[in-house]
Amino acid sequence: MSVKYLPSDLNKEAEEDLRKIREKLLSLPAPGASGPTGSWRLYRPEISAAKCVKCGICWLYCPEDVISWVPRELPKIDYTYCKGCGLCANVCPVKAIDMVVEGE
Ligand code: SF4
Ligand code: SF4
Repeated sequence: MSVKYLPSDLNKEAEEDLRKIREKLLSLPAPGASGPTGSWRLYRPEISAAKCVKCGICWLYCPEDVISWVPRELPKIDYTYCKGCGLCANVCPVKAIDMVVEGE
């Protein structure tokens, strides 16, 4: 499957491509499968609205499926179940996600 996907040119076809890719991922965990993580998470991802280009890559890669995203909108993270793994920060193409120490 080819990805016809440019954040600045997101259209219905591109959105459909992304959703198909996501469905083909090896695992698609459901939020809360291992219980709430907010009490033991060490780092918390924070998205910079100023830097984010709303591409949805973080939504695509989050292994806990706790990032919700609508094209052309800022993603939202469900901190009840985010485990603070930092994958979203690593894959963000513009480094719009900072991992901050929980509680700070
Ligand atoms: S830190 Fe990990 S679990 Fe939390 S939103 Fe990012 S990718 Fe998902
Ligand atoms: S936080 Fe990064 S990966 Fe997520 S939508 Fe924004 S720019 Fe894309």
